[in-house]
Amino acid sequence: MDVVVIGAGLSGLVAAVCLREAGADVQLIEAGTRIGGRIQALRDPKTDSALADLGPTWVWPKYQPVVDHWLGALGLETFDQFNDGDAVIAGYGPAARRQPLPGQDGMVRIVGGPSAIIDRLARRLDPARLRVATAVTGLVEDGSKAVRIHLQTGETIDTQNVVLAIPLRVAATSLHMPWAHSDLTDLMRRTPTWMSTHAKAVALYDRPFWREAGLSGRIASRTGPLVEAHDHSGRDDDPAAIFGFVGWPPHLRQQDPEGLKQAILTQLTECLGPAARQPRQLVVQDWATNPHIVTDLDIAGPAQHPDIGPESLRQAQLDGRVRFTVSEVSQVSPGLIEGALAAGETAAAGFISNGSSG
Ligand SMILES: Cc1cc2nc3c(=O)[nH]c(=O)nc-3n(C[C@H](O)[C@H](O)[C@H](O)COP(=O)(O)OP(=O)(O)OC[C@H]3O[C@@H](n4cnc5c(N)ncnc54)[C@H](O)[C@@H]3O)c2cc1C
Repeated sequence: MDVVVIGAGLSGLVAAVCLREAGADVQLIEAGTRIGGRIQALRDPKTDSALADLGPTWVWPKYQPVVDHWLGALGLETFDQFNDGDAVIAGYGPAARRQPLPGQDGMVRIVGGPSAIIDRLARRLDPARLRVATAVTGLVEDGSKAVRIHLQTGETIDTQNVVLAIPLRVAATSLHMPWAHSDLTDLMRRTPTWMSTHAKAVALYDRPFWREAGLSGRIASRTGPLVEAHDHSGRDDDPAAIFGFVGWPPHLRQQDPEGLKQAILTQLTECLGPAARQPRQLVVQDWATNPHIVTDLDIAGPAQHPDIGPESLRQAQLDGRVRFTVSEVSQVSPGLIEGALAAGETAAAGFISNGSSG
């Protein structure tokens, strides 16, 4: 069986690994210059080791059986989110105040971050069959059995099986799919891509100085620019780090990125103390600038967590030749890492049980 997987985010990679290990000839096509999609690490330029997460951070293996399975299968360990001490609550009264805030039951971090999942999955694939920096522009029915994939380079690839592992809104707004009826494309347009409009700030420090003052590193703020922040230090506190979600809307943060960074440093200094003013590094990852993840539909609407979508999203399209595979189509935890893993497994199982050959 030959399969082309379009999109090398978590769901596409899982589908590719499952299909390859079931004996399929798998090719992966990724529009971005790296694999991982919404999963991305801030890396040490000298050692390439992951210092912090620029995309997702948390998993809940106690409640997420698919995550639990893959962490075990990939030999990855977890550790607790640091939450000892007081949080700083700002903008909810005349003055900022300190108080402990409960953590979430079962919420943990992965040693090496979620990008360790990506790295380990990639080791199970043939690098010669992965093509990055190559956007797919169309999927066209070719005869009664095949699909012709059009690439931005003008090349085409003919295949019998396609795992379409890209955000549904990106597919609906940028891919030429003449076979897709309007009910389907309307549904795809209505399915928001979780966290696609968010920006995440990460500040690295030499030591977790806030803990010395009895602070957990957690901030809940109505005034921002970070609406929430958390201790993001590595398992052995190296590097010490804080991450936060930026509350400014996309147009505002893109208008003045330097002003945003200064405002973040001012906020961190007010909340955590003067040592916060001088991070080793401050990075803002703005997901709303990545055209392979976000669309104008996401930016125009409120940030929405996707609901579990109708069965039609999980059914094979084009007489069994195409399967949507992104996290948002999953029947479990759509939008989350758990959903991406489940969607990848489900798509691969669909092709394998169908016994397609080619
Ligand atoms: C800031 C942030 C925080 C998050 N926090 C959490 C968290 O704590 N816990 C959690 O469980 N989840 C979290 N998530 C969600 C989680 O990251 C996603 O559920 C998961 O990574 C989705 O993986 P995916 O493979 O389904 O989709 P994506 O990661 O979106 O992968 C899609 C891939 O398709 C590629 N692509 C797009 N168009 C084309 C094209 N035309 N041709 C070829 N390739 C294309 C993209 O470049 C991308 O690589 C967070 C996400 C973000 C952004």
